[in-house]
Amino acid sequence: MTMKQGSIGVVTSSRMELIDITNQINQIISESDYDSGICFLYNPHTTSALTINEGADPAVQEDMLAALKKIVPSDLPYKHLEGNSPSHMMTSMVGSSEMVFFEKSSLNLGTWQRIFFCEFDGPRKRKMHWRIMPA
Ligand code: ZN
Repeated sequence: MTMKQGSIGVVTSSRMELIDITNQINQIISESDYDSGICFLYNPHTTSALTINEGADPAVQEDMLAALKKIVPSDLPYKHLEGNSPSHMMTSMVGSSEMVFFEKSSLNLGTWQRIFFCEFDGPRKRKMHWRIMPA
């Protein structure tokens, strides 16, 4: 099976933030010789995640972070001694991978959709793995 794979670096600058990585992924796809196919994205970290949501209004990103902070209690008697248990909970809630189709060398996202790298325990230097295959 033909396939391409690699990783991209993501540098985060806040404790919690969403970073739009859609353009970087589209660049990878456009540099491949695949017209249409499947793109897999995988986040190998335990306190950051991947999600797809609205990118037109930045308030949606702020609302998502505010809601996650409200949903995940900061004052549980967490046993994890590192002190970042809420970040670990958010990572499992949001998820570590995404799969998106692409056509005409571009991600087949909905009109308002963007792909976000979700930092829950920054600032850090992160990475994210990708694989694309023609289909
Ligand atoms: Zn930890």
